[in-house]
Amino acid sequence: MSERRIPLAEPSLEGNVGRYLQECVETNFVSSVGPFVQRFEEELAAKVGARFAVACSTGTAALHVAMRLAGVDSGDDVIVPTMTFIASANPVLYERAAVTLVDIEPRTWNLDPLLVVEELDRRARRGLRQPKAIEVVHVLGHPVDIDPIVVACERHGVFLIEDGAEALGATYREGRFAGKHVGTLGRVGCFSFNGNKIVTSGGGGMIVTDDEALARRAKHLTTQARLPRVEYMHDEVGYNYRLTNVAAAIGVAQLEKLDDFVARKRRIAARYDDALGDVAGIGLAARASFADPTFWLYTITVDPERFGCDATTLRLHLAQRGIEARPIWTPLHRMPMYAGASRLGGHVADAVYERALSLPSSVTLSEPDQRFVIETLIARGTR
Ligand SMILES: *Cc1c(COP(=O)(O)O)cnc(C)c1O
Repeated sequence: MSERRIPLAEPSLEGNVGRYLQECVETNFVSSVGPFVQRFEEELAAKVGARFAVACSTGTAALHVAMRLAGVDSGDDVIVPTMTFIASANPVLYERAAVTLVDIEPRTWNLDPLLVVEELDRRARRGLRQPKAIEVVHVLGHPVDIDPIVVACERHGVFLIEDGAEALGATYREGRFAGKHVGTLGRVGCFSFNGNKIVTSGGGGMIVTDDEALARRAKHLTTQARLPRVEYMHDEVGYNYRLTNVAAAIGVAQLEKLDDFVARKRRIAARYDDALGDVAGIGLAARASFADPTFWLYTITVDPERFGCDATTLRLHLAQRGIEARPIWTPLHRMPMYAGASRLGGHVADAVYERALSLPSSVTLSEPDQRFVIETLIARGTR
């Protein structure tokens, strides 16, 4: 066993984290009241170019509130990609609505926009009820091909939610959304600051929107739907989804590092691209020309015939040498809660699931460590 340990994605607390935490202690603002929460909201909104941001306790909480903002209720369905982290879909079930799972496209590994557009048009032609919302997920730091979806949502009056949990810092390069940040093209966008994300607040989430009424309602729902000025009067069922001042303090300091972290992730991706581009049976991380992805987790595909072993064998080979690699999420339609869900499209997600492997992508990954990952990986292949 090697002494070296190279994690998949660990946080880096460089910068002002310590200073801001000290400030929380000195001012005695450690809980849900304190100046860092508002500062985090304002700075995140400015960073992504949204008018409003509402802090939440987790990214999952942010998505749950998004479902409430969309009015998702029992009897409704919400379109969600079948290949994503489970937290993208569960909030639909929290509201007792149904999930309609859509396959992904090979170019970006994000939901296939043509399938979504076709489905909305088909339902309109037949006079069927439209989904209450479409939730796109910008997986692994790569923006969704969102333009056709925005158009279709406008045409059919469907509420568009963006799960940007893995893609903070990712933008569009081409088309009418050139320069725009993920999370700002739907009615609401959600982000996560969990420990493995590109920036962390220890744990946390954020809802962004340009719609003031939605922002106000999001704040209301995250704070137990308590009415101001009246003693403990609540006008609907809300949640305690607030972010603490301590978490927000970490978040503010991390946000100051975001541009630097994105640049580092892109350099790591460029090195993997260079080193693995010619390796037989290895497919490079998905990338479409319309986007500037962050490569939050650099994820390859392994063709067992051409490479010499499958993704699982390669993962175990790397693990024996202290290198943490990770399979991609099991497609949702293979899980008991979603096995009965309606589905759109084919089996691209299943094919990607069989072959995908995420490689170490921490912003702290050193060049020698990355070289070690690359050499260890190549050594297991046929050439
Ligand atoms: C991490 C993640 C979430 C949930 O965020 P938490 O802060 O962990 O609740 C939601 N969606 C996706 C795609 C994620 O990767």
